[in-house]
Amino acid sequence: GSSDYSDAKRLLEAIQRWYVKNLEQNKTAKSYLHDRGVSQNSIERFGIGYVPDGRSVMRFLDSASLPRPQAAEAGIIAQGEDGGYYARLVERITFPIFSPNGAAVGFGGRTITNHPAKYINSPQTKLFNKSRLLYGYNLAKESIYKNKKLIVCEGYLDVVMFHQAGFTEAVATLGTALTQEHLPLLRKGEPKIILAYDGDKAGVSAALKAAQMLAYAGFDGGVVLFPDGQDPADLIAKGESETVAKLLREAKSIIPFVLEKIAESYDLYDPRAKETAYGAMKQFLSGLSQIIKDAYIPMAATLIGVAPAMFGTQTQPNRARES
Ligand code: ATP
Ligand code: MN
Ligand code: MN
Ligand code: MN
Repeated sequence: GSSDYSDAKRLLEAIQRWYVKNLEQNKTAKSYLHDRGVSQNSIERFGIGYVPDGRSVMRFLDSASLPRPQAAEAGIIAQGEDGGYYARLVERITFPIFSPNGAAVGFGGRTITNHPAKYINSPQTKLFNKSRLLYGYNLAKESIYKNKKLIVCEGYLDVVMFHQAGFTEAVATLGTALTQEHLPLLRKGEPKIILAYDGDKAGVSAALKAAQMLAYAGFDGGVVLFPDGQDPADLIAKGESETVAKLLREAKSIIPFVLEKIAESYDLYDPRAKETAYGAMKQFLSGLSQIIKDAYIPMAATLIGVAPAMFGTQTQPNRARES
């Protein structure tokens, strides 16, 4: 019932306050954030915290009279094979994930001890649906509405640093792909969407899928791929916000981006590969509205070297306006 929700909400709020207090008391965690270029103001604005060892987590739950089954349901602790509870996040910087209305619903945790799992996120819970939420949306929504622009990036720290550099329209997916379930949030305020992803293999493939989905959903937008080891967080921490601004200004429009990526992935000198490329282009174009499709047929045809007529067209040439 609704009381379960308010109990879970109170528990998450208590945990969040405790994580924040732990950061204040932990030199190593504070200097980690300092070294990554995160300002005190950003720490407070995003509610960034720190979770120490697992024993401390259990002690805190007990001292605050927060029942373990409830903490488990909220995704804070989990039950091991022996039935005992353990803290899901240990010795990690914590990034609270808020609902669009600003209620803490989950956490992302980054290791500061080189644990092989660089990030661990809250599991799916009643309050936390990671395929629908966007990190930072609660703080970005005002700018998104005002500037009709929304930046989607890959990581928590990218969002924090984007905002710190003044790009307050930045949000991120929660270690998952951008999917249809994100569309309702993305549509709000009718912003233009800029995908700002890492230029590594994972980033390019994620950008391609996201760009296709956005094009099908009728969004205007662009794609920026950041060079290896120079993601938005890295560049901004190095004082290179101007480079970031320039890359954003030069974003490639989503439809040309998809068309070029399709063309690039085939050896067009091989007729059979060219045929497959043609099929892939045709397939992508068929998901667009007729008018948008017709507008991009010449580009698609040129990219793979076929006659535009091979894609068919229904739009009539514009008649000259009468003066
Ligand atoms: P950092 O700058 O802290 O090293 P990043 O954000 O640049 O991290 P990437 O490796 O580019 O990290 O990954 C992008 C995002 O994917 C992360 O912010 C996180 O949400 C998610 N992610 C990365 N590694 C993992 C992991 N091992 N488990 C779950 N999610 C992960
Ligand atoms: Mn990456
Ligand atoms: Mn990255
Ligand atoms: Mn990074």
